Amino acid sequence: MAELAIKGGEKVRKDLFPAYKVIGKEEEKAVVEVIRSGILSKYLGCWEADFYGGSQVKALEEEWAVYFGTRNAVSVNSATSALYCAVGAAGIQPGDEVIVSPYTMCASATAPIIYGGIPVFADIEKEYFCLDPDSIEERITPRTKAIIVVNIFGQPHNAERIRKIAKEHNLVIIEDNAQGPGAAYNGEYAGTLGDIGIFSLNYHKHIHCGEGGIAVTNDNELAERMRLIRNHAEAVVGDKGYDNLINMVGFNLRMTEVEAAIAREQLKKLKQLVDERINNVNYLIEKFQDIPCIKTVPVRTGCTHVYYMHPLMYDEKAAGIERELFVEAVRAELAPTKLRETEGVRVEAGYCTPLYLLPIYQKRIAFGGGYPFVGHATNYVKGLCPNCEDVQNKIILHDLMRPGVTYEDLDDVHRAFRKVYENIEELR
Ligand SMILES: *Cc1c(COP(=O)(O)O)cnc(C)c1O
Repeated sequence: MAELAIKGGEKVRKDLFPAYKVIGKEEEKAVVEVIRSGILSKYLGCWEADFYGGSQVKALEEEWAVYFGTRNAVSVNSATSALYCAVGAAGIQPGDEVIVSPYTMCASATAPIIYGGIPVFADIEKEYFCLDPDSIEERITPRTKAIIVVNIFGQPHNAERIRKIAKEHNLVIIEDNAQGPGAAYNGEYAGTLGDIGIFSLNYHKHIHCGEGGIAVTNDNELAERMRLIRNHAEAVVGDKGYDNLINMVGFNLRMTEVEAAIAREQLKKLKQLVDERINNVNYLIEKFQDIPCIKTVPVRTGCTHVYYMHPLMYDEKAAGIERELFVEAVRAELAPTKLRETEGVRVEAGYCTPLYLLPIYQKRIAFGGGYPFVGHATNYVKGLCPNCEDVQNKIILHDLMRPGVTYEDLDDVHRAFRKVYENIEELR
């Protein structure tokens, strides 16, 4: 028996894990060129030639559209902004209901609220954690206008069934693909499966430019509405002669030329970075089979999962101790990742709280005067999405399989879990 690190024993791994750093010489060169040009952004917030931004922004959008095979790509300063643009472009109005996954980063559900829409949470699938088509159907009312699906952790949602439901009820599908660039559903890229798909380019994602986001769509009208919302729509629609004024209150959600130049280089690296993640996770899945209290998660048939995080399911009965203690013990065996030491060891018991349990939903307060919840019957009670709450109580997530780690590093990750399992008596 080895003494567990949490009990004062020696750690499996003392040295930091290699830095997760996907930015290199190519990005550096691209940034220097932009800075030397003196044009760090070229946008004008009025109906002029530069309404659509500068050469880097335009090139990024063209390259992104080609890569993912969509007619339009609209760059913005974050995926959150892309969600705002998408919901606004879709014409969501006060009191409209938007069906959303409760198991996602909070912005997926906040976007409808910005336009006075009401997030209606449907449950998730037990095995894949994406919106459950049956639960979506149960939540549809005459006020439902859209569905926001999320490819959570990089797993594509059930596009075939959800498209059928959307078509039947005339609903817009907005696909939050912040965690799934390069993921695929029956040969189609995730992010292109609905009416509008959004991507994130923030520092934690598969590829990034610091902060950034992109919305894609084959619908030219939706794309133009998103470009308007991105860049002061209200000052532009008059001169442009655009008269569908609903939601044409603009923001400034513009990406700079510097970020666009970085994002262009990052896109070239996407496939390699995604393949490396998949390879690393497959290596770990094989290894984890000798730990009976940890189950790996299936990939939907016909799909490519791109593992923003590597999800594992914890079997408390097989372990005989609580998940939180198990995870704490695993963490104690490992070391943080270089350059991100302050984040600690990224092995977590649970993901984001099921969103309807956040204070804004529990108290039904977003803006003043109860807006937009007032007068609306939507109920955000505990137990609303039982699968989601169950998954949240059993899941373990880690991201120690990101590009840059070696097989030896992955062996240490496995060894840490295995050591805790073998010596679990020390924790009882
Ligand atoms: C990261 C993330 C977002 C938000 O992305 P930002 O670019 O940081 O605004 C939205 N949805 C999901 C599922 C995410 O993981």
